Amino acid sequence: MTPRWPGSSHPEDDFEAWIAQRHQERVLDGSTTPAGPCPDEAFLQELARHSKQISLTDARVGHAANCPICMRRLLELRPAYQAHRRRLVLTAAAACCCLIVAAFVVLAHRGADTPHPVADLALIPETVDLWNAGTLRNDQPSPLQSVTLPAALVKVTIILPRYSEPGRYAVAVMRDQTGNDLLAQSSATATGNGDREEISVDLDLRKSKPGAYFLSTTHEQDQASYYYPLQIK
Ligand SMILES: [Zn+2]
Repeated sequence: MTPRWPGSSHPEDDFEAWIAQRHQERVLDGSTTPAGPCPDEAFLQELARHSKQISLTDARVGHAANCPICMRRLLELRPAYQAHRRRLVLTAAAACCCLIVAAFVVLAHRGADTPHPVADLALIPETVDLWNAGTLRNDQPSPLQSVTLPAALVKVTIILPRYSEPGRYAVAVMRDQTGNDLLAQSSATATGNGDREEISVDLDLRKSKPGAYFLSTTHEQDQASYYYPLQIK
């Protein structure tokens, strides 16, 4: 198990973070006895950076983890490091977005070159009714209804959940809710039909294997995404 510092953003690390927090409080109270002398500033900086150069079996790590002086210095050093890490994460996220945009440009370009093979094939009309999805009944969220679509070229009409905003929506089919493994994506402007908002998109699901997926809708204006369990048959 990798030792982690408190304040990790992973919920699964909450327990470890809690233990680390308790330990930290004891150290700062002076309830622990550090072994050996305090390491130098350079070492503490490396430690605050979680440098790979440092072995966790290093006696100085054990000291720093139990010494109130070293612990205070580590806590001072940490915010600067975390700001640096946030910048790295942002840079990585921006790079990801660029890749996604590039992929779309390539796909759009390819679509323009080929004389619409999609248009020659019959689209299977499907209706997905999300009207009652996510509404409250007796203060209990209604169970998310599962949507079923065939592994085919489908023209899906989605009845958006009650109270959905008008506007443009992106619709995607993916393996999991983190947006990994995007199978198909399309976007369309919602059309009002009585009091309901509907969107109609073409999705190419021919390459998807039968199984459990997610259908997501993202309102382009507020970027709020909703995920619905989807079965592909
Ligand atoms: Zn010390």
